[in-house]
Amino acid sequence: MKTLSRRVGCFTDSVIRRMTRISDQYGAINLSQGFPDFDPPQALMDALAKVAYEGPHQYSVTYGAPNLRQALAEKFQRSSGLSVDPETQVLVTCGGTEAMMSTVMAVCDPGDRVLVFSPFYENYGADAILSGAEPIYVPLVPPDYRFDPELIEQGFRQGAKAIILCNPSNPCGKVFSRQELLLIGELAERYDAWVITDEVYEHMVYAPAVHTVMAGLPGMADRTLTCNSLSKTYSITGWRLGYLIGPESAVEAAKKVHDFLTVGAPSPLQEAAVTGLHFEEQYYCELNRIYREKRDYFLAGLDRLGLKHNVPQGTYFVMVDIGDFLALPRFQNMSDLAFCEWMTREIGVAAVPGSSFFREPVNNLIRLHFAREKGTLDEVFRRLGKLSAILKESEFLQLQQQAPKA
Ligand code: GLN
Repeated sequence: MKTLSRRVGCFTDSVIRRMTRISDQYGAINLSQGFPDFDPPQALMDALAKVAYEGPHQYSVTYGAPNLRQALAEKFQRSSGLSVDPETQVLVTCGGTEAMMSTVMAVCDPGDRVLVFSPFYENYGADAILSGAEPIYVPLVPPDYRFDPELIEQGFRQGAKAIILCNPSNPCGKVFSRQELLLIGELAERYDAWVITDEVYEHMVYAPAVHTVMAGLPGMADRTLTCNSLSKTYSITGWRLGYLIGPESAVEAAKKVHDFLTVGAPSPLQEAAVTGLHFEEQYYCELNRIYREKRDYFLAGLDRLGLKHNVPQGTYFVMVDIGDFLALPRFQNMSDLAFCEWMTREIGVAAVPGSSFFREPVNNLIRLHFAREKGTLDEVFRRLGKLSAILKESEFLQLQQQAPKA
């Protein structure tokens, strides 16, 4: 009997991206996989049109076009205060996804352990498994997603070689404070571990929260591998442009993985993206303002509908509590996945079940994103109205039952 890889049998496809397919199947509004429904900046589209005629159309240097690496190094220097060598410390990848995978593969051998916060962006599970590494999970505890540093230390004592840190954090919207990052950094230093960060939402941080670049903290430059992407910052998720910045030895190792995995990110898109990296600070402030406004608009809408949710400090994700629904007879014993499938079909709004992010048995949360035009969000509220009507109706029936009979 022919067999397939046991390793690949250890994880499922991405539920985030599966929900996109289900959403498309039912023509729902897709608030599951996070990507905007609006265009990238005009200057980027113009640059892409120009590249169509002027090239390049052939491979770039495997590690990324030199002008893009240079621009990434400059942007990183502005945010972290670190000066990095674009030749040896920057690697351009196919999306943040490949940056993470190449990095975890470059760091871990089969049998190694890696610390992962839970809830976590689901790719990290597959990244660890494909690298042969065993994840040790550290809970971020709802509602404010705090962690117990003692559990991180325990993980390092068990020999964890690296910690994966998503900041701002997908799916829970936590922004790690400078204090928390210093603490994590101190532990990583004490146990001589790598810190692999995923900072793709760095510009979606809502005051008073601020984004702190881990690598820029004292002593962290030599042990931090910063993974990032242009997808969210320039609204170009389909361009598949990501990058890794870190110390030379680790980036050299990741370059080898990247070389054999994908050879390189699409060169015309790299060329066009350089335009975005040269935007003034004003662009990032405006992006932040737009997303903050969307966040507040979305949360206010959920409040009006009586849907319970967290208040994300960063990212464009919100966790909505469906516990009250699952307590109703019509949803009893339903998994959050089945609820999301039902909601996509019957309500016309797609979300991601929380269980695909949590290590712990969490069944009462679903993740929605708000990277949508206001008009689309209004339509979402209209559709979710049908959902909240179910709750209101059951409350009404309950009250009727409790009311003293005349
Ligand atoms: N980060 C996005 C999300 O969590 C998806 C990214 C992707 O699908 N590559 O929805």
